[in-house]
Amino acid sequence: MAAIPARSIFAEAALLEHGWASDVRFMVREGRISAIESGVAAQVGDERHGCMIPGLGNLHSHAFQRGMAGLAEQRGDTDDSFWTWREVMYRFLDRMTPDDLHAVAAMAYLEMLEGGFTRVGEFHYLHHDPEGRAYADPAEMSAAIARAAGEVGLGLTLLPVFYAHSGFGAQPPSTGQRRFIHDLDGFARLLDGARQAVRGLDDAVVGLAPHSLRAVSPEQLAALERMAPDSPIHIHIAEQVREVEHCLAWSGLRPVEWLLDHADVDRRWCLVHATHMTADETRRLARSGAVAGLCPITEGNLGDGLFPAQAFLAEGGNWGVGSDSNVLIDATEELRLFEYGQRLQHRGRNIVASREIRSTGETLWRQAVQGGAQALGVKEEGVKSGLSIGLPFDAVSLDLDHPSLAARGSDRLIDGLVFAAGRGGVDCVWRFGAQVVSGGRHRARDAVVRRYRDRLGRLIG
Ligand code: ZN
Repeated sequence: MAAIPARSIFAEAALLEHGWASDVRFMVREGRISAIESGVAAQVGDERHGCMIPGLGNLHSHAFQRGMAGLAEQRGDTDDSFWTWREVMYRFLDRMTPDDLHAVAAMAYLEMLEGGFTRVGEFHYLHHDPEGRAYADPAEMSAAIARAAGEVGLGLTLLPVFYAHSGFGAQPPSTGQRRFIHDLDGFARLLDGARQAVRGLDDAVVGLAPHSLRAVSPEQLAALERMAPDSPIHIHIAEQVREVEHCLAWSGLRPVEWLLDHADVDRRWCLVHATHMTADETRRLARSGAVAGLCPITEGNLGDGLFPAQAFLAEGGNWGVGSDSNVLIDATEELRLFEYGQRLQHRGRNIVASREIRSTGETLWRQAVQGGAQALGVKEEGVKSGLSIGLPFDAVSLDLDHPSLAARGSDRLIDGLVFAAGRGGVDCVWRFGAQVVSGGRHRARDAVVRRYRDRLGRLIG
C-alpha cells in the first residue's frame, strides 16, 4: 500500500493509555502515531474532531456467516439449538466460491469498521472447494479473506483453522465438514499460503486455530502448538453444555480443564467461548494470561450461556469480544450485552467497573481493546488500552450531534456511546492512519453492498 503522508489530527477529548486528555494533537506518520500533545490549541491544517477513542479489535469472526444473518430464526420441527443452527450454516456454505466469500467478507468487514472495530481475527475454516477438494492454491479462500480486508481497509489477523474430526476421540468428519478438513502436512501448506496471502496488507498477523477439542486429537494439538511458537493460537473451547458433557465422557475432564492440563496455555492463547467453567477453571484460566474470547451477541443468539465475568475479572483475567457469526455487527452492542448478561445474572448494576475507573463504558472499552490486541497478536509493546505513541492510528471519533451524546464529556461520552447511542454514535473511523469511515458510512459502502446483494442472490436464491 502507498505510504500515507504525515498529518496532524486534533481532538477536544481523547482516551489515551493513561486516561482521558483534553485538547489533544496526534501526529500520524506512515499509519502510526508518532507524537501526542495534550492541553494544546489546534493549529492551522489540523483535522478537527470532538472525541476520539481507540478502535476495538474484533477477536473472533467467521466472515462468511454474515450472509446467513437472520436465516436461522425460524422454529423447526424439533427443539432448536446450536446444533440445528449448525445444520443451516453447513447448507449455506455448500456452494460458496472464493468470489462469493470475498464479497460477503468485504460486506462484514465494512460493517465492522462502521461499527467501531479496526482489526479482525478471522477464524477461517472454509478452505476447500464445494466437493471438499483442495483448490489448486490451497490458500485460495484465505486469499479471498485477505483481499476483502485489504479492499475495505480493516486490520487482519488471519487464523487458518485446523479441523480433522467430527467429535471427541477422533471421530471421522461428516459430509457437511468436507470443506474444512486437513491433515497436518496439508495444513502446513495452507499456513505458508496464508502468510503469502496477507503480504500486501499493513501489519497483518497470521496465527492458527485448532477448531475445538472436538475437531483435533491431542497429538494434532501438540503439533499445531509447535507450528506457532510466537503467534496467536485460538480455539473454540466450551460453548455448549453438550460439548462439556462429551469432553467429560471422553477424558474425565471438562474442556477448559483439559486444555490447561495438556497444552502450554499462555498469553498467545485465546479461548473462544470460555462460557462453561467451574470456579477452579475460571481462576486457572485468568491466571494463565490467556484471553477469554467472548461473543455476547452470537452467544445470545445461539443460546450458549453466560461467561462467569465477575469471578474472572476478580482474578485479573484478560478478555475481549468477537462478532463470531456476524448476525449483527456492532462493537458497542457486544460490550453492552456483555455487561447486561452479568447484570441479569447477578441482579446488580455496573458490574465490570471498579473504584479506579468508575465508568462502565470506559472499563468495557479499555479492557476489550487491550484483550483484543493481545489475542490478535499485536506485538507485546502494542498491547495498550488507549491511544498511544507507536501504535497504528486505529481510532474512532464520536458523533457529538447524536442526542444520546449531548452535553457530556469524556467518560460520560463513552457511557453514552456504549449504553445509549450504539453504533449510531460513531462518526469517523481510521485504520492504520487512513480514514475509512466518515459520518458513520464507509467510503466504499455503495459498491460493496451492490456486489454483496448480487452474490447473495445466487447463494440463497
Ligand atoms: Zn466461532
